[in-house]
Amino acid sequence: MIVVLKSSSSNEDLEKIIAAVKDYGYTAEVVKGKSKTIIGAVGDQKEKQQHMNLLGQLPGVEAVVPIMQPHKLGSREFRNEDSSFKVGNTIVGGNSLTLIAGPCSIESEEQIFEIAKAVKSSGATILRGGAFKPRTSPYTFQGMGEEGLILLRKAGDEAELPVVTEVLDVKDLDLVCKYADMIQIGARNCQNYALLKAVGKTKKPVLLKRGMSTTINEFLLCAEYLLAEGNMSVALCERGIRTFETATRNTFDINAIPVLKEKTHLPVIGDPAHGTGYWQYVSPIAYAAIAAGADGLAVEVHNKPEIALSDGGQSLKPKKFTEMVKKARVIAKAIGKNI
Ligand code: PEP
Ligand code: MN
Repeated sequence: MIVVLKSSSSNEDLEKIIAAVKDYGYTAEVVKGKSKTIIGAVGDQKEKQQHMNLLGQLPGVEAVVPIMQPHKLGSREFRNEDSSFKVGNTIVGGNSLTLIAGPCSIESEEQIFEIAKAVKSSGATILRGGAFKPRTSPYTFQGMGEEGLILLRKAGDEAELPVVTEVLDVKDLDLVCKYADMIQIGARNCQNYALLKAVGKTKKPVLLKRGMSTTINEFLLCAEYLLAEGNMSVALCERGIRTFETATRNTFDINAIPVLKEKTHLPVIGDPAHGTGYWQYVSPIAYAAIAAGADGLAVEVHNKPEIALSDGGQSLKPKKFTEMVKKARVIAKAIGKNI
């Protein structure tokens, strides 16, 4: 349910309402909007109707309304305005165009520094790079681990870019949090509820990638696990789903973008690299994602894709990335983003 506060309500009223909400067994998520403060109260209590009536009588409460959508805190019922949050000193969501770029995997100091410098000069806003890699085969490169995280952090600092990197396992979460500005939860872990809960507790911004066979409604509920732990800094990433088509690695679900934008206030990012699997298709699908309303892109960029240790075939060279960014900006402006 949503508890809407009167504009005349005091801080003391707010504290008392939060205490009552928690007392009845719900989590309380406060959103201070431009004109109104609301509290999202989420929980599965049998006496919900009674609790709604009691809360409605507290001083400072204007109304108590139920949230009908199953994904409560992520829904447009809870918050109609697009949400945005800071990652380092860049903003994700709202009116900004987020450009996440970097290699699939961090491979060496020289590699990550060179790519960081290149993507920064093309207008990237967040540097990506995996240190813990979810590979299909256990015999392929698994990532550099902490050594990679150290290099990513240094390269990000040098290029003045915040960094995003994937966490594969709850046991590595503290370590990844030490170096990253944003935590990526990959497609294979989209429905790993233990990991989602643990990442939700950290309050670090999260890039949650859609699982390859996760429906949009399931995806929204995966995000809800993060929100329900009090972490509201979540961006959703469409990265292609598995279909009968084999000409591309995955099928980028362009529909998902307007559907997600309608159902949730959370920022939506398109990943045309994993969404297609081939560098030739990355830019066209990137443009389509922006045209469909995505708040940004996540793209793999490599200085030497032919010798990349992972995902070289879907990585853009820096020059192609620069061209892509220029055109993506024009499209974003054309559909009304004020960037
Ligand atoms: C990645 O971003 O390199 C990655 C492994 O992505 P996904 O989880 O979408 O496959
Ligand atoms: Mn990759």
